[in-house]
Amino acid sequence: MPPSDPTTHPRGKLIVVAGPSGAGKGTLLDPLVAERPGLVKSVSATTRPPRPGEEDGVQYFFVDEATFKAMIDGGELLEWAVFADHYYGTPLAPIEAHLAAGRSVVLEIEVQGARQIKARFNKAGSDPVPMIFIAPPSLEVLANRLRHRQTETEAELAKRLKAAEAELKETGWFDVVIVNDDLDTARKTFIDAMDRLLKA
Ligand code: 5GP
Repeated sequence: MPPSDPTTHPRGKLIVVAGPSGAGKGTLLDPLVAERPGLVKSVSATTRPPRPGEEDGVQYFFVDEATFKAMIDGGELLEWAVFADHYYGTPLAPIEAHLAAGRSVVLEIEVQGARQIKARFNKAGSDPVPMIFIAPPSLEVLANRLRHRQTETEAELAKRLKAAEAELKETGWFDVVIVNDDLDTARKTFIDAMDRLLKA
């Protein structure tokens, strides 16, 4: 990574995209990140086992529980949460490096983590972090999408749906809520929101 030089570029911005598993956060975000070199997605650490095709260091850093807890204790995570019986957290050091180098960083996380970020950056002297919530049109549609994805067992799916129900009650404190019903419409609204929030 090139060394940061604040005289040649402004610091990047942090932005959060949250919402239930299966609502379409990645579907909306990944194409945008792919086409914008100045925008990167943070790679989280998790204790969840990799799905077929997932690679360590790409979708996640796959770690065991002891390693994750050591990361918590060492203050290495910007936020972390337990979701569907697994730990997930955002490593702080790469984010700081990206921001200092002028790259904006998106966190694609669940709602407890988003809440921690909001609390952490809403203190005096910090810039508030914009928060986007991606919602499914309904819990029924979400259940169908998750089932169709075939990445979880029925028991795991039930945990995700229970979490989704709780997450959908939290939309009130987000800056933007996008209902991902028609994908093309949601994509356009998402890109507009990202552009506006990253410029602000
Ligand atoms: P999945 O197991 O489907 O990859 O992720 C489950 C949920 O955890 C998703 O809502 C995902 O956005 C969220 N998640 C992924 N990484 C993190 C993280 O670092 N922190 C938090 N709080 N949630 C995360």
